[in-house]
Amino acid sequence: MPCDWSNGKECQFANLHHLKLIEYAGSTYCPYHLPLDAPQKAASPDHQAIIGERADLCGVQFPSRTYTFQNRNANSVTLMNDCHFAPGVVLQLFLGTYEIRRARFHGEVKFENRGRNKVLLTGSRFVGPLQIQALVQPSISRDWTAANWEIDSVDFEEVVDLSSATFGESLRLSDTTFAAPVEFEGCKLPQQTVAHDVRFVDRAIDQDSEGSYRYARLALAEHRNRDLEGVLYAAEKRSQRRGMKWWWPSLWVSTVYDVASRYGQDYVRALVVFLGIQVAAYVGYGAYFQRWDSSVVVFTFAQLVKPFELFSVRTATATSGMSDLFAFSAPGPALLFGSALHSILSLSMVAIFLLAVRWRFRRE
Ligand SMILES: [Zn+2]
Repeated sequence: MPCDWSNGKECQFANLHHLKLIEYAGSTYCPYHLPLDAPQKAASPDHQAIIGERADLCGVQFPSRTYTFQNRNANSVTLMNDCHFAPGVVLQLFLGTYEIRRARFHGEVKFENRGRNKVLLTGSRFVGPLQIQALVQPSISRDWTAANWEIDSVDFEEVVDLSSATFGESLRLSDTTFAAPVEFEGCKLPQQTVAHDVRFVDRAIDQDSEGSYRYARLALAEHRNRDLEGVLYAAEKRSQRRGMKWWWPSLWVSTVYDVASRYGQDYVRALVVFLGIQVAAYVGYGAYFQRWDSSVVVFTFAQLVKPFELFSVRTATATSGMSDLFAFSAPGPALLFGSALHSILSLSMVAIFLLAVRWRFRRE
């Protein structure tokens, strides 16, 4: 009976001598594909012996220990798709390419870079903390680099420690979520750091992380990497907000700036918020005057182009379509307050919009 780790797909270890198949949960597995939670897993033979020789390690379930991938040549490719890694696994990466797709890391894991390598890490999930480390080359006392790393559709649920990582040539992050703090301080980021849709959520936004994100942001600013710099600036400022008391004015200003434009990155959002304020103001004025015709639209628009004009209105005037609305009375305090708030928020949104456009398209 063959090892059926993947619905009948042939096991790449099938031709190994003395391979003893193991029954578990109604299926048969070779010792390498045997699931981590099988009681016999502890008795599995030394996985390390096969690691050095094999290029295809797809589906292997790695018990906790250190694995050395002994690729000695830059063109070699090691496939580790659909693998599972037990907590406490250490992966020592030498030269070559490592493809890790749809992998599950069930606990703490460490990548040690011992040669210039390329790693494709896609569609994977890290349940425990991750550390990426560059070891120092003893002969010439230079760091080994994680040369080309591509991380796509990966969820990091625990701390990601990059403080001793050296990314050599390129680092690409896309559709990646960090749900716990990322330690950037000490990390070397390459000129070619590219990120699309990177999210810092939940515990990643923590008052103790402010310095870490600032460190990365300054490195990216040096590389003129404006987009990612903006993402990290937002993470930095949101982390900073966690340390503020709710009554601090800077917390409120910071929050408005975030909501309106994600800290100056997103001019489209500023425009949408601006339009939303106009609609809300129209509804407010309509409710106040108990009418919904074009004169209320004109009035709403008037508060934009002539902010605070109502404060100088004592009697019905012929300006800005107001004569019709206040034919018999001067504006009351509620209307004065509402229109002032409307004007202040609208002007703020225009300013934030212009700043965001300038930030996005400014030439160096
Ligand atoms: Zn197998």
